[in-house]
Amino acid sequence: MTPTPYSSPALDRAAHLREDADFLARTPHKRCVTLWRGQVLVTQAEPPAALYVAGGGELFLGLHEGMAVFARDIAGAEVPTVEDGVFRELRGIASVLPATDAAILATARGMFHWQATHRFCPSCAGALVTTRAGWVLHCNACGREHFPRTDAAVIMLVTRDDRVLLGQAQKFPVERNMYSTLAGFVEPGEALEDAVRREVFEEVGVRVGAVAYFASQPWPFPASLMLGFRAEAISDEIVLDPGEMRDAQWFTREQVRNHKALGFNLPPHDSIARRLLDDWLAA
Ligand SMILES: [Zn+2]
Repeated sequence: MTPTPYSSPALDRAAHLREDADFLARTPHKRCVTLWRGQVLVTQAEPPAALYVAGGGELFLGLHEGMAVFARDIAGAEVPTVEDGVFRELRGIASVLPATDAAILATARGMFHWQATHRFCPSCAGALVTTRAGWVLHCNACGREHFPRTDAAVIMLVTRDDRVLLGQAQKFPVERNMYSTLAGFVEPGEALEDAVRREVFEEVGVRVGAVAYFASQPWPFPASLMLGFRAEAISDEIVLDPGEMRDAQWFTREQVRNHKALGFNLPPHDSIARRLLDDWLAA
């Protein structure tokens, strides 16, 4: 299976170099992506690509194509001024970006969000300073080190016989009329399989039996790791949690394939939800 969007094995994170300040400062082979308040700088071409500038930045992302890759955040600028390129929302362009560009920009987006939302030490409320090329936040008051956070979320394709269970969450825009796989955050002390069963029962009242891992996807919008599963339902009846779900239905493959004619939308192509659905349609 090809890597899920926003991930790429081609980026060597080269974690051992994060502490090698001499290398990071001196290597002439370096280039840098730019972010502004969560948006990413890309070329004005169609399809776009990440716009790299020569030189380094405050966050070292790794090695790619013989270059050290950095990111810089110009969040402090009222208006982002760049000579070339344009700032865009990563989600809107991820499916047309080169895969490694999408992974580089996603990593930078997640890291800068983590830095921006972790300015004080959770232990003593002291101010945190970034170290190790951006990957560690150090508290000068108590000495603790804080590492990047990723919130685990399960996302599951629930089937029974030849039908799939898709839902429309209350948070989806009404006008999109989108039906997608169910998803939810893993809680402390909970195995992933149990999170799958709990979330499905909470949201739509359906009991799930067998659960099998499918694939994962980084989802830095703002700070999740999506863990994809296939799940087999052992009951049919849907009982919605109206606080979470606007609707949920069982669909046949033919209905999912004909979603446009039937007047509803599927999740976007950059999502593991769509990957799960496409994989089921192809089976
Ligand atoms: Zn502290």
